[in-house]
Amino acid sequence: MPRYVFVTGGVVSSVGKGIVSASLGLLLESRGLKVAMMKMDPYINVDPGTMNPYEHGEVFVTDDGAETDLDLGHYQRFTKSKLSQKSNVTTGGVYNAVIQKERRGEYLGRTVQVIPHITDEIKSRIRMLTAEPEDDADVAIVEIGGTVGDIEGLPFLEAIRQFHLEMAPTPSCFIHVTLLPYIAAAGELKTKPTQHSVRALRDIGISPNVIVCRTGKHRIGPDQRRKIAMFCNVTEEGIIGAEDIAPIYAIPLNFKKQQLDETVLRALQIDAPAEDLTEWRAIVDRMRRPTHEVRVAAVGKYVGHDDAYKSINEAFAHAGVANDCRVKLDWVDSEQFENGATPEEVLEEYDAVLIGPGFGNRGVEGKIRAVHYARVNKKPFLGICLGLQIAVIELARNCLGLEKANSTEFDADTPDPIISLLSEQRGVEDMGGTMRLGAYRCELQAGTRSHAAYGSDVIYERHRHRYEFNNAYRARLEKEAGLVVSGIHRRADHELVEVAELKDHPWFCGSQFHPEFKSTPLNPQPLFREFVKAALAQRQARDS
Ligand code: GLN
Repeated sequence: MPRYVFVTGGVVSSVGKGIVSASLGLLLESRGLKVAMMKMDPYINVDPGTMNPYEHGEVFVTDDGAETDLDLGHYQRFTKSKLSQKSNVTTGGVYNAVIQKERRGEYLGRTVQVIPHITDEIKSRIRMLTAEPEDDADVAIVEIGGTVGDIEGLPFLEAIRQFHLEMAPTPSCFIHVTLLPYIAAAGELKTKPTQHSVRALRDIGISPNVIVCRTGKHRIGPDQRRKIAMFCNVTEEGIIGAEDIAPIYAIPLNFKKQQLDETVLRALQIDAPAEDLTEWRAIVDRMRRPTHEVRVAAVGKYVGHDDAYKSINEAFAHAGVANDCRVKLDWVDSEQFENGATPEEVLEEYDAVLIGPGFGNRGVEGKIRAVHYARVNKKPFLGICLGLQIAVIELARNCLGLEKANSTEFDADTPDPIISLLSEQRGVEDMGGTMRLGAYRCELQAGTRSHAAYGSDVIYERHRHRYEFNNAYRARLEKEAGLVVSGIHRRADHELVEVAELKDHPWFCGSQFHPEFKSTPLNPQPLFREFVKAALAQRQARDS
């Protein structure tokens, strides 16, 4: 059974608990410990799959097909912990389970209440994370979403308080992540909101062992450290300064300097060998000092939210390291190509074009024009999920002359449904958790670019979609448009096209899966890596 670290947040939301949790996970793993990671989200959605990514950020998908909070993406990129359905718990999921038990009569006539029934369910989810022998870990890091003081977070805080008590005398560790606002007039970082937040936490019965203080551009000084330590009843080693640091992969190194791992291990009474962060430090160094630069245009619906495509942004950072280059990703609104602007004038300055995942028909025609531009002008192109579907629509329209070819997602009555609903999706009415989700086996065709990128005959990549390439058009696209189907998922009676590429093009590839979900700094995802390599070649050819 693991020892537990609980991470809570105070003062404001978006304070970076996810990166703090992931960074601690990395530091503990660097000391030879096995880590399990989990996120508790106090919202009532059963999972974030039904939430708007432009407001809430990306939906991260695990191998076993859970649609989860984007913080799990940080866990994946920083640690080796296994992520699954069990790794993300929400209020909606907890209530769902409790209500189903009630309907089955499992509460034997009792009144079902927040305490103990909801809190018991939360505690059982925490235990379940590491219940299977193969999932056991030395340390489990459990992050609680939201901010202390929120009404909806209370059952989770009460549950971890009880959990800690029930584990005694085995110790657990509480980390509270807060913000010290900088008041320019006073020229000072202010500690009062942190003091109040810790007081609110202690009212609930939780005393933090560590307080991580976010400080923006400023650095926490010894006076503030002392003050927070004293008022919040935490040792001075337990006060960790967290100024803004780029790239985010350097954040664990800042915590390491302040011995966060040491303080946590002392609280947990665990002895561990010295760390080995050699590889990680090397990656951070390379990320900071790249030799080259490429510019990629990500063409899509306008996105105001930086987190909506978090994993894609990060996959480019990793692919950049592999190519010793900085990847500058600009989001380019596709709707402008429907309103007079031409891809020629907008995309010319870029070294490569990406079309990412998406739903709904806004901006689709503009995306088709962008693909056309990339194909004809031989700009490296990567299409992800919807991006592959758009590329195939473009080929059908412009190489096969099927002017009205479309996905039935965008035009239900198209005469040429080049992309159509997966058979198992017909008749599905519920929106939540019903897409084709998670990792599927994909066989790669020898001699293709995709095969060369992965260096493997079989890969497993993660999916999140309802529509598929319509095989009725495959032969014609291969013959007349130069399409090469390079990856398929084999079913008993059907082949699903998972990766496709173009023959006469420097680099043009689309995948039905989401390669971004498995990319990590230590293992850059092959398609991203090769796409960036092609972009760099394009740039160098242009510059020479
Ligand atoms: N909307 C498309 C589908 O459902 C693509 C989804 C995606 O890009 N993730 O198939």
